[in-house]
Amino acid sequence: MKDVPAHRLLLVHAHPDDESINNGATMARYAAAGAQVTLVTCTLGEEGEVIPPDLAHLAPDRENRLGPHRVGELAAAMKELGVTDHRFLGGPGRFRDSGMMGVAENRRTGAFWQTPVDDAAGHLVEVIRSVRPQVLVTYDPDGGYGHPDHIQAHRVAMRAAELAAEPAYRRDLGEPHAIAKIYWNRVPRTVVEEGFGRLRAEPPTAFPGGIASVNDVPGVVDDARITTEIDGSAYAERKAAAMRAHATQVAVNGTRFALSNHLVQPIFSTEYYQLVHGEPGAPEGERERDLFAGVTE
Ligand SMILES: [Zn+2]
Repeated sequence: MKDVPAHRLLLVHAHPDDESINNGATMARYAAAGAQVTLVTCTLGEEGEVIPPDLAHLAPDRENRLGPHRVGELAAAMKELGVTDHRFLGGPGRFRDSGMMGVAENRRTGAFWQTPVDDAAGHLVEVIRSVRPQVLVTYDPDGGYGHPDHIQAHRVAMRAAELAAEPAYRRDLGEPHAIAKIYWNRVPRTVVEEGFGRLRAEPPTAFPGGIASVNDVPGVVDDARITTEIDGSAYAERKAAAMRAHATQVAVNGTRFALSNHLVQPIFSTEYYQLVHGEPGAPEGERERDLFAGVTE
């Protein structure tokens, strides 16, 4: 029989780079601890804006080659995090990046946003029933910040978790499997405010492009909603390196980064979650420090 790691973590994300920005330290920490870390990315991120001028030719309105390029960026990022199992939902290029909410690309045939949730979920059920994760991490129902692919990734992940456990559903996709714990990516408001406070305390000349604001950070909620915090400070450099590997999307400078709007944000090496399904593995009123806390098998 094949050796199966005791702890198995599945993350479902919309585009290459989301995993490193949201969960890079968590992924590196669990991979280093010998857990099975599986990343499923739903699109190639074909509609992203390209930061480096020398790669601007890849953009969708020019050569339209950003998708395959980002497959390579993701592979490089996963190397930095020590994650070997990363897959695209339904195979690379199956679902296309839908662009920001409201643009014409939302309605394009093949766009992830246009795909019926149950169709996309079937592909994820196959992964869930084969990897058999105890823990699933994805976005909140707003996708953290309202991007259609992030909203859809949330819907598909939640639906697939349900279908994977359903004995009557598609036995051709494997034996039913119930995921013990499901988490949404979150960031506590006080932590973000402190992070931006530190940036604002520096001379403005340090940030010629300006500083982002709390509203630019996805998934920010009141601290009381946070159930779980994962201290990834030992993996802060791995996370920064993984983010740097997504060079078309992210510009990293030390412990800060900027997206294509050039507004600087802090990189957080402690990552936060809200447990939305399953039993908390910490006493009431205390935060979990381990996604697998209380997981027995
Ligand atoms: Zn994204």
